[in-house]
Amino acid sequence: MSDANSSSDPITEVLSSIVGPIWLKVGQMFCGTDHTVIADAHIVYDADGIRHAGPESPSRDLIRMGQEKPDLYLPDHTILPGLTDAHTHLFLEGGETDPAKRSVYLKLTAAEQLNHAQSRLKRLVSLGITAVREAGDKASVGLALQSRYWSNQRGSMPYVDAPGAAINHHKRYGSFMARPTEEYDSPAATVAARIADGAHRIKLLATGIINFEKGAVTAKPQMPAEELTAFVKAAREHGKQTMVHCSGNDGVANCIASRVDTIEHGYFIDDDQLARIRDADMVWVPTFAPVQFQVDQPDHIGWSKQVCTNLQRIVGAHSRSLVKAQELGVRVVAGSDAGSHGVAHGWGFIRELELMQAAGISAAHVLHAATGAGRERMGYAEQFGALQAGCKSRFLLTNQDVLNDVSNLRRAKIVVFDGTTISTGDDESQPGL
Ligand SMILES: [Zn+2]
Repeated sequence: MSDANSSSDPITEVLSSIVGPIWLKVGQMFCGTDHTVIADAHIVYDADGIRHAGPESPSRDLIRMGQEKPDLYLPDHTILPGLTDAHTHLFLEGGETDPAKRSVYLKLTAAEQLNHAQSRLKRLVSLGITAVREAGDKASVGLALQSRYWSNQRGSMPYVDAPGAAINHHKRYGSFMARPTEEYDSPAATVAARIADGAHRIKLLATGIINFEKGAVTAKPQMPAEELTAFVKAAREHGKQTMVHCSGNDGVANCIASRVDTIEHGYFIDDDQLARIRDADMVWVPTFAPVQFQVDQPDHIGWSKQVCTNLQRIVGAHSRSLVKAQELGVRVVAGSDAGSHGVAHGWGFIRELELMQAAGISAAHVLHAATGAGRERMGYAEQFGALQAGCKSRFLLTNQDVLNDVSNLRRAKIVVFDGTTISTGDDESQPGL
């Protein structure tokens, strides 16, 4: 354990004792707006937000009266924005690896699911995850958490935005998190109903999932391009974005043709499709973690050797696509699919970042995907994900080399959330529940 876990941590003590704006000078600043780093940078913040961030000293009107120098100079520390997990299902505990126990979770009442989800949220901020984008549940757990975020009782919970129930077709993939569009007369009516429920965005299930036995997506996409286009149009008429579950080359093609906002998963995407996604300024959220879990622990499902070989080939191709996407300048945003089998909330996101790094992109590019890459594109209701004047004061301070290895995010760090300072020790543990 690190001494950062103790209440006598001197940095936390100083940050917690100051009334009014705090001025720090830090050895390395990762702003989150791209993958670059500023040496010996300054930040001034208070509970309301960041007042100043950059290489130059702040102007006098931004600091406390009479202050002549930073409250702290931390030459060995790196500061970076709080992390955003852009694909979570808080109603499910991915850390539960026993399939039988997982199915029990699905049968809990909505109130029980919400209770469990609230306790999962607590771990996120201390791990440095200060925002999540929910990806669908039928019991309105995500919507309830979103409401709680905007209430006056939220405390230090991450920003949450949610689509409510995902939208699928009757008897097609996704019924554990979706309600079918057949409940309404048209895509427009389905979208209107979700928005009436409080959805901040619309989640669509454009395809099924990968058939691991065959090593391919074998089912026809459940939503053709014309139908997706109707959903996208309806969502835009309400000022809402679409996030679309999609794997398989045909399904990706439909998503591109219909100009959805974000493509979730996107297994079997090809290089030409990546270039089109870039040109259309769409977002790709590759979600390595749920498939990698099955590569790492095939026994939970009883996968054969052949299936394991398929899984490895699929993850290998996905890794090459990630490297290509970065070369092409595609807007890649990190999301873990936490709640999926084997992907725990919080720890699963750090794992996702490790897998993106292992796929072959630099730690700094991974951190950009986890902070500011989606910031101006994803329609979040607040400014976060960057160290910039006007953004929320939600950031991490660490003396570990996170800029060269994202695994160091597991080590002791200080999290500042709207001005409140939380220090955490090393976290090597695997998920509990
Ligand atoms: Zn998902």
